[in-house]
Amino acid sequence: MKIGVLALQGDVREHIASLGDCGVSARSVKTRDDIDSIDALIIPGGESTTIAKLARAFGVFDLIKARIGSGMPTYGSCAGMILIADQILDGGPDQEILGGIDVQVRRNAFGRQVDSFETDLSFAGIGGTTFRAVFIRAPWVESVGAGVEVLASFNGHPVAIRQGHLLATSFHPELTGDNRIHRFFVDQLCKESSKVRL
Ligand code: GLN
Repeated sequence: MKIGVLALQGDVREHIASLGDCGVSARSVKTRDDIDSIDALIIPGGESTTIAKLARAFGVFDLIKARIGSGMPTYGSCAGMILIADQILDGGPDQEILGGIDVQVRRNAFGRQVDSFETDLSFAGIGGTTFRAVFIRAPWVESVGAGVEVLASFNGHPVAIRQGHLLATSFHPELTGDNRIHRFFVDQLCKESSKVRL
C-alpha cells in the first residue's frame, strides 16, 4: 500500500511523519506520475482555493478527482476536507473542488485566522481518550448525506466524517503528535480497500 501526501501546499512533512509513526513510509506527490504510483492519498490543510489552482497548474486536478471517484482511499484535513466535499458554502469566486463525500461544508465557518483554537474531542473508532484537535481557520460540516458517518462533532457541527473510502477532518491531527487518526485511516480505510482489491 503506497500512500502519498499531496505536496502542493501545507503540512506535507508533518503528515509523512505521522504516517511514519504508524509504520507507513509515505511519499510526497505532485505530478501525474506520482499520483499514478500511489494507492491512497492525504490532502493536507492549507488554502483550498490555492491547492485547487496549483493542482490545475500541475495538471493533476482531474486525475485526482478521477482516482477519488474510482475508490482511492483519501483523507482530507481542513482545506483537504473542503476539497473532497461534494458541496461548499462560502467558497471563493469560481472555487473548484474535487468532490467525493456527500456533505455540504462551510468554509472558514469558525471565523477568521485569529479565531483559531484547540479543543479535546471524542472521536468514534480510534479508541483511548479524547483527541486534541487543532482548528486553524477551519471549515465545519453543515449537512451530511445518508451514507456519511459522523466521527466527531464540535458545538453540534460535524468536524470529522467518513464515507466509505473517504475521511475528512476540519482540524489538523498532524500537528499534535497523536497519530490515532492517521492509524485509523491506514487500518480502516487503506487496508480495507486493499482487501477488496485482492
Ligand atoms: N481556510 C482555509 C481554506 O479555506 C482552510 C484552512 C486550513 O486548511 N487550515 O481553504
